[in-house]
Amino acid sequence: MALGTATVAYELRFDAGRICLDLLATTHPEERFDSVEVLGAWIVGAGLVPSGTPLTHVDPSWLVGFRELRGHIGQLVRSGLAPTALRPSYDIALARVNELARVAPPAPRAVRGEDGALVRELVGPPGCEELLGAIARDAVELLTDPVARAGLRQCEGDNCPIVYVDSSRGRRRRWCSSEVCGNRERVARHRRRAALARV
Ligand SMILES: [Zn+2]
Repeated sequence: MALGTATVAYELRFDAGRICLDLLATTHPEERFDSVEVLGAWIVGAGLVPSGTPLTHVDPSWLVGFRELRGHIGQLVRSGLAPTALRPSYDIALARVNELARVAPPAPRAVRGEDGALVRELVGPPGCEELLGAIARDAVELLTDPVARAGLRQCEGDNCPIVYVDSSRGRRRRWCSSEVCGNRERVARHRRRAALARV
């Protein structure tokens, strides 16, 4: 699998503030995990592995695992945002995330780089379960941290499902991204004003 300039075209986003929330964002605006190349780019972009880590062993079964974990985390996070009667599937999702979190993330090590400075790399090629473990642990930490949990927000943009942690001062962040949904809102507001002015 070659990661190159094509990676940029995927427009993957990593601005939700947590790896487990960046994972949820991969369904928007369409399914991103439909090829191992994109999944590999996401794994690197999310910081799950140091850049340059060989991911030639990623196969389509990984897509299934990542999507499954994403579904479970999505259920747990969204239940927290809009508390309703918890459905039985909530407990199933919780049990599954806890189970995946038992696997330790890939072990890192520091090695001397070409210029003598230490660089981080993994001890061996990361396994799918190890990476799912790292994301599941992030979800467990987020969902059990009252401060972080209180900062969970869903973007106010029209039909935007992205959930982020608002760590801004005064907690006034309203959008997943001011360039994307924030800008769309500003344009819509401008159009409404222009329309009113014509009446
Ligand atoms: Zn948004």
